Amino acid sequence: MPQRASAFACNALISLYYVDFVRHFRSTFTMFDRVHPIPAFTDNYIWALIDTDAAEACVVDPGDAAPVLEFLVSEKLSLRCILITHHHPDHTGGLVELSNRFSAPVYGPRNPRIVGITHPLQEGDELELFGASFSVLEVPGHTLDHIAYYSTTPKQPVLYCGDTLFAAGCGRLFEGTPQQMLVSLNKLSSLPPETLVYCTHEYTLANLRFALAAEPANMALQERAEKEQQKRDQGIPTLPSNIGLELATNPFLRCENQELRERVAGQSQLSLDNATSTFAALRQWKDNF
Ligand code: ZN
Ligand code: FE
Repeated sequence: MPQRASAFACNALISLYYVDFVRHFRSTFTMFDRVHPIPAFTDNYIWALIDTDAAEACVVDPGDAAPVLEFLVSEKLSLRCILITHHHPDHTGGLVELSNRFSAPVYGPRNPRIVGITHPLQEGDELELFGASFSVLEVPGHTLDHIAYYSTTPKQPVLYCGDTLFAAGCGRLFEGTPQQMLVSLNKLSSLPPETLVYCTHEYTLANLRFALAAEPANMALQERAEKEQQKRDQGIPTLPSNIGLELATNPFLRCENQELRERVAGQSQLSLDNATSTFAALRQWKDNF
């Protein structure tokens, strides 16, 4: 592969690492080559990372075992592992049944409330999956145990962020403070703009309606609203999104924007002089929208 060849040429250190990497994965190495959304409940997506050659999948946040089993059977795949982002039942409800049936390891937050986690994770942990290396990011706010999975190993970086960052929105603050959530969102939005964002809910159109109320003059947002509506009209998921698009159109990532801040201040009747107070008022506005 030309990319591999250039890695060898790059410098001795990288070459050594690379030889090690290839050695480690030579027997089993095939990158997951397909990511498929398995719809669950009314608006959840259970993302399946699929290694076609190995006929194996890994699923993220299986809130329900039934649609996952149906998918695995119809695609003739076995389950290699499960990733969990936070403790909510619509993300964890199917994990025990699935992990028992396939003897699959379950990676997730270090939270004893989640029954069935075999590999508890925290900030900075790395895990190898289908030859890709995933970093664990702690992103409290929606819940306190919330983590996200980020990998730069596929052709395009990918982020599995559960209910923290949504397309044109963010998760409700059930457990964390606005300050915590803003720090978490900043962590995600500082990832490379081309990073594909796999959120867990199809909330995009409702989020865009709110975003347009918050930023009616944002041209990128108007364009996006049209495009996403067309996708939904055709029954196509609006996800994955990407960080660049979110930075341009997601009001929760734009709390430094002066126009947005003035609009939120007018709505909340508060004087908002920083990103945290703007974020808090914006989130509250959305909760009652
Ligand atoms: Zn949740
Ligand atoms: Fe959820």
